[in-house]
Amino acid sequence: MSKATVARPVDGITINGDLEFLLDDNGEVRVFNSPEEARSFLVAHGVDLEDLRHITIMESCGTCRRCGSPLFKSLIDGYDYQCFICDEDFYKYEQDA
Ligand SMILES: [Zn+2]
Repeated sequence: MSKATVARPVDGITINGDLEFLLDDNGEVRVFNSPEEARSFLVAHGVDLEDLRHITIMESCGTCRRCGSPLFKSLIDGYDYQCFICDEDFYKYEQDA
């Protein structure tokens, strides 16, 4: 089962394509144990189907070689992965070597 996180348009605006991650109560990116858990969380918090269409549930695409946390696809052009614990974006070769 791969970890998952939730990305949504900044301020709910879909036009410019910028995404932000759903945060937890401590201001850290919220990571779920599975995409299903992420979806259940959103529904439980009153996100309706219309809103869900604009929300991307991102599955983890690997494990960070530096800290062992789940890696997610980077939102920054040119980078391949990001680690929320290291708070860094990585190139493919940095993680796949
Ligand atoms: Zn890391």
